[in-house]
Amino acid sequence: MPIYEYRCKDCETVFETFVSSVSDADNVVCKKCESKNVEKQISSFSSRMAGSSSGAPAGALSGCSSKSGFS
Ligand SMILES: [Zn+2]
Repeated sequence: MPIYEYRCKDCETVFETFVSSVSDADNVVCKKCESKNVEKQISSFSSRMAGSSSGAPAGALSGCSSKSGFS
């Protein structure tokens, strides 16, 4: 299940929420002030989360290539 990071434009709260569908993404509200004036954050956060849970394919690839370069 994808986790997205949102930032509330009203109170500057950054929060994470589960979004299982497009309609869910349209109904995200701030967890602090319940404003719908939120924007989805496109940041390294999501890739970092994916990396920690799935083994970071990109990091593993670069690590592998540098390792083979040494040996
Ligand atoms: Zn808010």
